[in-house]
Amino acid sequence: MSSGKKRILLLHTGGTLGMTLSGQPDDSARFVDSLRQHAPRIFEIADLHVEILFNKDSSNMVPGDWLKVARALSQRMSEWDGFVVTHGTDTMVFTASALSYMLPSPSKPIVMTGSQRPMADAKSDAARNLIAAVEIACEARVKEVTIFFDSYLLRGNRAKKVSIPSFQAFESPNLPPLARVGLRTDYVPAPYPSIESNPDFRIETRVAALALFPGMDIELFYGLIDKGVRGLVLKAFGPGDIPLGEHSVVHLIRALTEKGIPTVICSQALFGAVDLNLYETGRAAATAGAISAGDMTWEAALVKMMVLLGRGYPLGAFRAAFRKNLAGELTEELM
Ligand code: ASP
Repeated sequence: MSSGKKRILLLHTGGTLGMTLSGQPDDSARFVDSLRQHAPRIFEIADLHVEILFNKDSSNMVPGDWLKVARALSQRMSEWDGFVVTHGTDTMVFTASALSYMLPSPSKPIVMTGSQRPMADAKSDAARNLIAAVEIACEARVKEVTIFFDSYLLRGNRAKKVSIPSFQAFESPNLPPLARVGLRTDYVPAPYPSIESNPDFRIETRVAALALFPGMDIELFYGLIDKGVRGLVLKAFGPGDIPLGEHSVVHLIRALTEKGIPTVICSQALFGAVDLNLYETGRAAATAGAISAGDMTWEAALVKMMVLLGRGYPLGAFRAAFRKNLAGELTEELM
């Protein structure tokens, strides 16, 4: 007989939440018992089933792991009312971005969460994060890939890990939270594109990301071309400015563009959007062929590059697709 509760699938991938107090992934066989001991409420508010996909420190995750999570969600989408994905905080935003591009317009909420301290720690934030994540999955007001942490529900591909010690580990600098959880939960809807397409799990992993700094000698990085790099993300200054001069990255951008390899420009600043028209140092990058990431985080831009290259787009089509809002990751007017 049905309990009337929402059917929620919790997919565990690892992270601090399921670790021992000394910071190692705990025995997976103990995970469900630990949940029952430290966060019993989640089994009361939902008809909750737990599946352990893998149990890794998220720093050890690779794109193949993103695909495992994406495939599991896609295969089980119709069977459950919502999903909670438990995950380490360190690389959660990369996985969230990948899931958002691979599973366009999901029909169910996919709420990622984790914790800053293991469940077994008396001061842990795990139970609180889990309870809110399960509640949000049950309420199903936001059907996209999100991250719940501390008090905020964030769009996954807009989020950044901003704090090592704070329980509020994530923020989404260029998009207000989708919900604030306190005594009650206040949702703040944000537009989300509705894209009719099938899940697509292809990905290109031969990409590179470089953070620019004053005096950087770009000659050191020409070897990337011979090594077969398929795309480059540059973390540039302010609105996307790059240093000019003899050893400037502009020569590398031009060399890559001539070979049909995209270079995307992100900013080292947290807030606002790249604008390559503002200064000579940005225009030089654009003239050499660089593509603005607008107000995307560099993590969302890098994963988007991997996904679009995985679909085999040549440079022109890549440029057009990269500017599009695929899963709420950017503000199209700022591109
Ligand atoms: N190193 C851990 C991880 O990302 C950190 C965490 O979960 O907070 O898996």
